[in-house]
Amino acid sequence: MTPHSAKDTAERTALVAGGAGFLGSHLTELLIRKGWRVVALDNLQTGSTANLSRLAKESRFSFIEHDVIEPLPSSLKADRVFNLACAASPPRYQADPVHTMMTSVLGTKHLLDVAERSGGVFVQASTSEVYGDPDQHPQREDYWGNVNTTGPRACYDEGKRAAEALCFDYLRLGKADVRVARIFNTYGPRMQPDDGRIVSNLICQALSGKPLTIYGTGEQTRSFCYVSDLVDGMWRLSDVADNPGGPVNLGNPGEFTINELAALVLAMTRGSSPIVHQALPQDDPRRRRPDISRAEAVLGWSPKVQLAKGLPPTIAWFDKMIAAARPVVETPPKRVRAGGRVPALAAAPAAAPKA
Ligand code: UDP
Repeated sequence: MTPHSAKDTAERTALVAGGAGFLGSHLTELLIRKGWRVVALDNLQTGSTANLSRLAKESRFSFIEHDVIEPLPSSLKADRVFNLACAASPPRYQADPVHTMMTSVLGTKHLLDVAERSGGVFVQASTSEVYGDPDQHPQREDYWGNVNTTGPRACYDEGKRAAEALCFDYLRLGKADVRVARIFNTYGPRMQPDDGRIVSNLICQALSGKPLTIYGTGEQTRSFCYVSDLVDGMWRLSDVADNPGGPVNLGNPGEFTINELAALVLAMTRGSSPIVHQALPQDDPRRRRPDISRAEAVLGWSPKVQLAKGLPPTIAWFDKMIAAARPVVETPPKRVRAGGRVPALAAAPAAAPKA
């Protein structure tokens, strides 16, 4: 693959909006490993600086707390701009739907303007949600989708669709070299236990011996991509010399029903939780699987980590998170009788590991 820019990597700066999030922090680390300077922006709505703790002493890394809804300083320039700034799990993006829509529309505009004034490459994290509840299966990039414009998912789905429209207008107008990734369900370490998504919910429930919540019959399907594969795809999309000219699906084509995923999680955690069925959320897509032939052809990319390989490190991550959240039970000091001697305190149990 020909690097997009002839500049020496050491001089180049990437701006990662949403850099403290699940995907953003993994992408930031990848860029640092590749020798880039990285400025991560995040409003910490769903992201956390803990996700960037490995970079605390890295001189090529800096972090700015900023909500992309607000304009960015005109001094901010970058050779590559990655826009991953938006809450992505249904409960999180529906908690403040107006903010979600504005993040996609205003946020994308502000970041496109950074790419325009820098002459840099812009990579938009779009989503399989632009296909809505798809009538075509698997989903190819030329499918226009089936989205309910007035439902509870619309703030995210239509926000991301509007952001794509902005991206391709900037490209057509020659304002910036814009590339759009349509990201399918992704999982891995640094997902948040309370994110409300299927992988995090099932693993945390299984590890805590709680019932596994399956919405509807569980026969709906999703395709799960491991995080290292996904950020490699985003990197390649930014680095390919020729602009692909249209959106590129990034996801793992392995398709599983939610029931199959639950069985896999129970087996891998050696859990014995019962399954409880709850109401299917409105507009929940019935099937989802990416057609990745464009990514294979244009980026030479296909996922390497299959679900059976990606789940164990993900389970280990949640195990650590749950252990860290568990209160440390200290042995209370013995009461001292008036005039008595203070007895030696029992050794406190080892502190829970930090996430
Ligand atoms: N789901 C479920 N139980 C849960 C969380 C989610 O059955 O505890 C279902 C949800 O209804 C959907 C699928 O799992 O059909 C994936 O949901 P998720 O929120 O992870 O992502 P989506 O692909 O819907 O954005």
